[in-house]
Amino acid sequence: MGKHGVEILELDVQKLIRLLNEALCEEWLAYYQYWIGSRIMEGPMRSEIEPELLLHATQELNHATLVATRIIQLGGIPVTNPADWFKLAKCKYADPTDPYVEVVLNQNLEGERCAIQRYKELADFTNGKDHATHQMATTILNEELEHEQDIEEFLTDINRLKEDIRKFRL
Ligand code: FE
Ligand code: FE
Ligand code: MG
Repeated sequence: MGKHGVEILELDVQKLIRLLNEALCEEWLAYYQYWIGSRIMEGPMRSEIEPELLLHATQELNHATLVATRIIQLGGIPVTNPADWFKLAKCKYADPTDPYVEVVLNQNLEGERCAIQRYKELADFTNGKDHATHQMATTILNEELEHEQDIEEFLTDINRLKEDIRKFRL
């Protein structure tokens, strides 16, 4: 970023770059988690859930783009080696070894809740001190909130479906 753009920031820029790089690693892992999960999952409502998870994947990739762009503006270097993704990410990758739809959704749900914490932390850290990063963090936070809501609704609907099937059998 322009020199003055960094000068006006009223926070520890190196710490901010570190937090953003952690977030960047998490976004790539979230992207892959959704992308592979949407392809391998099996079970009720798959045809409805699959395209939504794929959409979430592309939204996570867009978050990675926003975060990397901001790191560069701040004078930092976005993580260049995927081997560092696992080391730096605080939100962990959950290998979807069980492709059942509810298992995949619950893994994604945990990831979203971690992402919500991440962008709350970034929004808090930059509030009133770095308006540009703050705006980016709240924009991404809003999308992570949507993701959490979408997944909770899918899980609710699957449970309703299961209850209805149980009732029919009685
Ligand atoms: Fe994200
Ligand atoms: Fe998300
Ligand atoms: Mg959605």
